[in-house]
Amino acid sequence: MSLIIDLHSHTTHSDGALSPQELVMRAQQMQIDVLAITDHDTVSAISVAKEFAQKNDIKLEIVTGVELSTSWHGFDIHILGYNMDIDDPVLLKRLAAQLQERDERAKRICDKLAKCGIENVYEDALNHANGAQISRNHIANVLVDRQVCATHQLAFSKYLGKGKRAYATPKWITIQTAVEWITQAGGQAVIAHPSHYDMSTKWLRRLTTEFKAAGGVAMEVTHPNMQKQTKSLLLEVALSSELLGSAGSDFHAPGRWTELGRRLDISEQVKPIWHNWPVVLNHHKIHQRIA
Ligand code: AMP
Ligand code: MN
Ligand code: MN
Ligand code: MN
Repeated sequence: MSLIIDLHSHTTHSDGALSPQELVMRAQQMQIDVLAITDHDTVSAISVAKEFAQKNDIKLEIVTGVELSTSWHGFDIHILGYNMDIDDPVLLKRLAAQLQERDERAKRICDKLAKCGIENVYEDALNHANGAQISRNHIANVLVDRQVCATHQLAFSKYLGKGKRAYATPKWITIQTAVEWITQAGGQAVIAHPSHYDMSTKWLRRLTTEFKAAGGVAMEVTHPNMQKQTKSLLLEVALSSELLGSAGSDFHAPGRWTELGRRLDISEQVKPIWHNWPVVLNHHKIHQRIA
């Protein structure tokens, strides 16, 4: 019996739709064995989720995770971190600084929207985010709610996307810094969704090579909706860059396309990042004993 492992998910502590408790319940419903919670630039949901799972005797291994925003040659590259010590004060101070930049960027975006005649978006976005960090998705939701844009996608193509009217260049950390933050807190760094960056294969190889040189250990090699051809390319890039493989749904909200733990099998040719993780090995043993 193989385990269902999903190493990429979000809660209301960033731009996910479910609270940490609801995410745990959803994972239980979807029969997930191992779930990493990887909110953008924060680890605050993890202790809430773990406590809830424990109190309710839910058999779910929750892996500590984070998804850091970085800038690399004009691309917004997301770096996932796993198994960090989330009580490490240095890590927490660093994440707080990144969240501060996120907040300042949100204000810069909203200033630009005001110049387009769309006023006071910051306050509404903060409401949408329920007091948590503001992502561009929250701002897009405000624009849709106010009927400034008909759809979320239009909010990006008209205002929030790169180079559009209300785009504010983020001052994210570098990839090297992200790997350092994760590694110094005892974690492992992984490139998130390498096929989402709209870059040529040549750039992708450059990315994986630099990431590996910085101390990164793995890259995501699949996604529930990925075409076969893309999967083959990512597999080949992972092997040639000597990176381990990883997989996650990047779950933000329940729905047909982005369900937790579905279609995440990775090729046997690549070693999975979890090959020596105690949470996975222990869970496996428990399962074998029961079976
Ligand atoms: P942020 O981290 O605040 O910059 O927000 C990034 C998120 O915005 C991504 O994870 C996507 O969900 C969403 N996003 C970015 N660009 C687009 C786009 N062109 N169209 C739709 N959604 C986008
Ligand atoms: Mn997100
Ligand atoms: Mn991402
Ligand atoms: Mn994500």
